[in-house]
Amino acid sequence: MIHLRALTIGRFQPFHKGHLNVVKKISNEVDEIVICIGSAQISHEVDNPFTAGERIEMIKKSLSQNGIDNIYYIIPIEDIERNSLWVSHLESMTPPFDVVYSNNSLVARLCRERGYEVRHSPLFKRDKYSGTEIRNRILKDEEWKSLVPNGTKEVIKEVKGVKRLKKVSREEVSQD
Ligand code: ATP
Ligand code: MG
Repeated sequence: MIHLRALTIGRFQPFHKGHLNVVKKISNEVDEIVICIGSAQISHEVDNPFTAGERIEMIKKSLSQNGIDNIYYIIPIEDIERNSLWVSHLESMTPPFDVVYSNNSLVARLCRERGYEVRHSPLFKRDKYSGTEIRNRILKDEEWKSLVPNGTKEVIKEVKGVKRLKKVSREEVSQD
């Protein structure tokens, strides 16, 4: 059997149950998974509250609590503002990969141009399982915990993520 390594990328602000479902699906189709954390350098913003390190922990805890036992790598990828070099940038940070799972049209185009097979993954309950929806619910004190795996919940609690998000939200508003 051919050994397949897949790559997937998201900002994971935070890692939610939609992301977990994608990783579960990929884990059934390939042997190893490279999970890239995009915009790794950004944190403490209302749309990007968590650090790359915090997102690594959310993913690691959530995958181990969900029995995903494929070999996986979690790799932070900083933004570069040059699309034509972006795939090389990615390759410079990851083990070699065979197939890319992404629903992002730019990521898909850049990877296809470079010769990679790109697969789309189905969206799971996208109205709820969405980073934007979860951040909005946290800010409005609405129910959000059911939308994330336990590992993510634990990390958000440990780093006082709710307090941080509310604080950066107030500060961003007062700057305008
Ligand atoms: P944000 O609202 O902050 O952009 P997001 O939920 O879109 O967050 P991202 O961190 O942007 O998540 O990650 C994007 C990747 O995750 C994309 O490839 C996207 O298709 C996938 N994804 C996001 N939500 C879901 C979902 N509910 N089901 C399946 N895949 C999802
Ligand atoms: Mg998104």
